[in-house]
Amino acid sequence: MAAGQPRVLVVEDEPAQREVLAYNLEAEGFAVSRAETGDDALLLVDEDGPDIIVLDWMLPGVSGIEVCRRLKMRTDTRDVPIIMLSARSEEVDRVRGLETGADDYVVKPYSVVELMARVRSQLRRVRPATVGQTLEFEDIVLDAETHRVTRNGAQLKLGPTEFRLLSTFMEKPGRVWSREQLLDRVWGREIYVDTRTVDVHIGRLRKALCQHGGSDPVRTVRGAGYALG
Ligand code: CA
Repeated sequence: MAAGQPRVLVVEDEPAQREVLAYNLEAEGFAVSRAETGDDALLLVDEDGPDIIVLDWMLPGVSGIEVCRRLKMRTDTRDVPIIMLSARSEEVDRVRGLETGADDYVVKPYSVVELMARVRSQLRRVRPATVGQTLEFEDIVLDAETHRVTRNGAQLKLGPTEFRLLSTFMEKPGRVWSREQLLDRVWGREIYVDTRTVDVHIGRLRKALCQHGGSDPVRTVRGAGYALG
């Protein structure tokens, strides 16, 4: 998985539908993992840490509703948006009635274009930089579309890694990120990088953010990692 790409988990037992979805999501630049059953889905959630899940209701074994219910009960996964797919609108009504906590519902047969729009709309909430949103934190403005960063109106020169670090921080100001989490998000899992590399790039980011003056907005949290603000 490339660094910084939004991760989407597609859970669908029907191979043709699964591939169409995965193909379209990959074409949008998403890193896609695929599951055929509810059990696989629960395993992949732990392995891949998806940013969003597209989840079919009718699955062999553990149903989509049950997967949704379990993930929404866990503190580490409850904020991952889930778009539930369902064959009939009555089922959607039932899902709503069951209060499984799904974030959106799409009735089959759906238009892929519409489903993509719903995926982007959920991502705008949880990973705004990955869908080209402009992020702001105090006097720092990051335009994810043009990759321009300004502070107090002055443009900042940032390397690509520092840009991805800053996007990650600005998506969730105040959140403390461990070095491992930053490696995973900014460098990607497939590349071996020492955690000390994170410290090096944090140093560069700090310097870049202060190149026209201003105080250092990156906070070192001892024993835990780093946070913005
Ligand atoms: Ca199905």
